[in-house]
Amino acid sequence: PARTRFAPSPTGYLHLGSLRTALFNYLLAKATGGQFILRLEDTDKKRTIADAEGRLYSDLRWAGLQWDEGPDVGGPHGPYKQSERTALYQEHAEKLLQSGDAYRCFCSSEKLNELARRRTSLGLPSDYDRTCDGIPRAQSDERASAGDSFVIRLRVPSEPPEYLDLVYGLVGKPKHNKKAQNLGEALYEDPVLLKSDGLPTYHLANVVDDHHMDITHVVRAAEWMSSTPKHLTLYNAFGWKAPHFAHVGLLQDSGRQKFSKRKGDLEIRRFGDQGIFPETLLNYVALYGWSHDHKSDVLSLSDLIASFDMKFTKGNTIVEPHKMMYLQKKYAARYADEGGSQFEALVDRVSEAIQQEFGTPSWFPEAEYRNSLSGHELRMRVAKVLKHTAKNFTTLRDFFNDYSYFFYDVPLPEFKDDSEEQRYAVCRKIGAELSGSVESALETIRPEDWSEGSLKEAISASAEEVVAKNDHSRKQVPPDREIPVVKDAVQHVDVPILNTQEASKATQLYL
Ligand code: ATP
Ligand code: GLU
Repeated sequence: PARTRFAPSPTGYLHLGSLRTALFNYLLAKATGGQFILRLEDTDKKRTIADAEGRLYSDLRWAGLQWDEGPDVGGPHGPYKQSERTALYQEHAEKLLQSGDAYRCFCSSEKLNELARRRTSLGLPSDYDRTCDGIPRAQSDERASAGDSFVIRLRVPSEPPEYLDLVYGLVGKPKHNKKAQNLGEALYEDPVLLKSDGLPTYHLANVVDDHHMDITHVVRAAEWMSSTPKHLTLYNAFGWKAPHFAHVGLLQDSGRQKFSKRKGDLEIRRFGDQGIFPETLLNYVALYGWSHDHKSDVLSLSDLIASFDMKFTKGNTIVEPHKMMYLQKKYAARYADEGGSQFEALVDRVSEAIQQEFGTPSWFPEAEYRNSLSGHELRMRVAKVLKHTAKNFTTLRDFFNDYSYFFYDVPLPEFKDDSEEQRYAVCRKIGAELSGSVESALETIRPEDWSEGSLKEAISASAEEVVAKNDHSRKQVPPDREIPVVKDAVQHVDVPILNTQEASKATQLYL
């Protein structure tokens, strides 16, 4: 069984990329009967956002990725927030000082900046030049007890450890800067482990925690690949067995930018707000960077657990939004077919959105539309419309824009003059005629023969008939009345068979 962890920092909200990393860790744990751990890497207080922690919990729970151990649920290896484990990190940094694997660095940031400038101008990497590694131990201890400010740095070997990545295979040495190599400098800079305020850096806290939390597999984004040799150096220095590493490609937007917490528009909360199902979102991100043997791409969380393996693909991936909508429609249709609790939840969600969020339909701005249906009636009607249209359901907004004529009344407008009232009367008359005609046309079809095709045909035929009969008066119908007319027709028939395409087709034929 694998013990995996998702280890975000509370410096922003969950987005598509981090959600997928969490999902892969969750799947690996669940597929092997292991545990999925949530750890909060909150060592960077300056970048911490106040509500990020709470949002992280609620977003992950909304997505259905419940952790077995974590900050709010506890567990045998807690605490699970790094800010509550400072003493442990300090103790471990001290151990490395004792063993000689680390050293105190007293260089001020001004001095480091100056050094970096100088080295860069000489064509060398801006890395730290190890000045303080030469300070004898006794002198270093003395300066520390005299209160000199220092950080603790790990001494990395000049040949960094190679490792076997579960995605990339053997990861060897990166290219060395030629000049630095000629000077016999190490390939990596000696990373800071403990900062001058006594708080750990990511490298130290991450490795100490993965070890103490018995993590067997680290699945994280490829942006961390270059840190792994440093981490392995730490494992070696402590004499610990390292976990397996799987670095997965980054998810990128259409501009090849990494999804990142700093870009709020891709927070997964936004998808939920739009009515995207958690299953859609998990299924969607799972399809990127992982290949499966199924015929269909529609894989629910339990399908994903059942079929999960480590067949990750290399490289970063650009996500395609239309794939999400494809999956969304599949899940909506599935919920409508099953008619179970997920369908009920969808009906509730849509009904609430219509009542609370949407107000006046965007396609008819000047009309004062009212929704006179009681809560129960609205819910019944939403259920009826969704039963027939779920296979096209994408977002709450799209649903509303496409089908709002099922849910609103058109109050009689205030007429400016008689002619306007007359035109409106004509419009209502034709509307009523159209609905009567559609109704009788539908009656000629036996319910067992109802199909999209047969219904459409009947509607078109009857609309054409009405158009022919009203050739004169139809010219008087103001174009902005077209939708209410069709809406009237549909409401009279009381069968939610018209979707937008059909509605607008009937409207075009009619007007
Ligand atoms: P920031 O961009 O602010 O550094 P982040 O967007 O990388 O933050 P984190 O919450 O710190 O988000 O990341 C949590 C995990 O998700 C890490 O393992 C990280 O490697 C991974 N991750 C972050 N962004 C992506 C992405 N675009 N694609 C795939 N995985 C990602
Ligand atoms: N806190 C790191 C991040 O947010 C974790 C990286 C890792 O998984 O090791 O990206």
